[in-house]
Amino acid sequence: MKQISTFGASPYNIGDLQLFRDADTAVAARLLGNSPVVGVGQGQPVANGGRARLYIVLRGALSVAGDTRSGLADGTISKVLPGESVGEQSVLDEEANLAAITALEDSEVLVIEAETVWKLIEASNGIARNLLRLLSFRIRAANAQLRRRQKLGEFYRQMSMIDGLTGLYNRAWLNDLLPEMVATAHGTGRPLSLIMIDLDHFKKFNDTHGHLAGDQALRAAAQVLSGALRPSDCAVRYGGEEMMVLLPDTSDKVAVVVAERLCERIRQAVVFRDTRAPMPHITASLGVASLAPGQDDHGLIATADAALYRAKDGGRDRVAAQESLF
Ligand code: GH3
Ligand code: MG
Ligand code: MG
Repeated sequence: MKQISTFGASPYNIGDLQLFRDADTAVAARLLGNSPVVGVGQGQPVANGGRARLYIVLRGALSVAGDTRSGLADGTISKVLPGESVGEQSVLDEEANLAAITALEDSEVLVIEAETVWKLIEASNGIARNLLRLLSFRIRAANAQLRRRQKLGEFYRQMSMIDGLTGLYNRAWLNDLLPEMVATAHGTGRPLSLIMIDLDHFKKFNDTHGHLAGDQALRAAAQVLSGALRPSDCAVRYGGEEMMVLLPDTSDKVAVVVAERLCERIRQAVVFRDTRAPMPHITASLGVASLAPGQDDHGLIATADAALYRAKDGGRDRVAAQESLF
């Protein structure tokens, strides 16, 4: 970056610069007469030595990475074209310009020191108005970008809570939400029931029909669950071929009825239609538990698990409830 001339001696027209459009150009030309015009080679940084300065591109293009233009201290990169400026904000709030400014091509840049910018503002309402307009535009752009990022972040957060194979909530979701549901149930005194579901002899199913058919069977079972539930109920893939249904506001007795219905529907679910082969079907064992006073999420899961094991022991393809329900 080296000085080529002063603005007064350069061929550039002040009316072409965004900041001075429709403003008092004679006043601006007088105040800017001695401001340096510097040349910056392609890829070279526009050095600012940490000082608050305004840069206006006269020829070429600059790239700004970082926070000055967008207000976001991240990987945002924007391009500054002839007539446009960078650094207004750092001049106005007297903070150092933190953005990395480099030349995208061989460029000529007008460098305006902070004191000169203030003199320009004091001398011309038009310049002050342009500066306000520019800042307002930048703030709007930064806000819009922030909103886009928030939406994207929310999207990925949601995605990270959903199991890819079945579309049910995953373990991460459960870890987040079950303690909350347990706290709500304790707080309101409303019941909370949990059904643990494990497909029967699923290893054999995979061995007989292949892993892809196994995946299809898992999807079919998941569809049964999500299709049979009320909006307030949640179905979760707990891991492997184990799934779970959470039933807020549901007593143990009602949960057993729901579990019986799920068991029946899984038994009848069509895994895939292939008229040439005997149609494989699946069954599941289900364990039901309801939140006991003082019990935490781990206790609730353990109780449902114990019930599930009794359903397996009892011959599979059936529902068992926690001991106290009998
Ligand atoms: P049980 O009736 O006692 O539950 O017997 P099981 O064979 O179902 O039990 P086990 O836990 O021994 O085997 C579970 C099987 O589930 C083994 C594993 O290959 C299969 N499995 C787990 N996750 C998936 C999956 O995402 N896709 C497929 N195709 N199979 C899975
Ligand atoms: Mg299992
Ligand atoms: Mg199993």
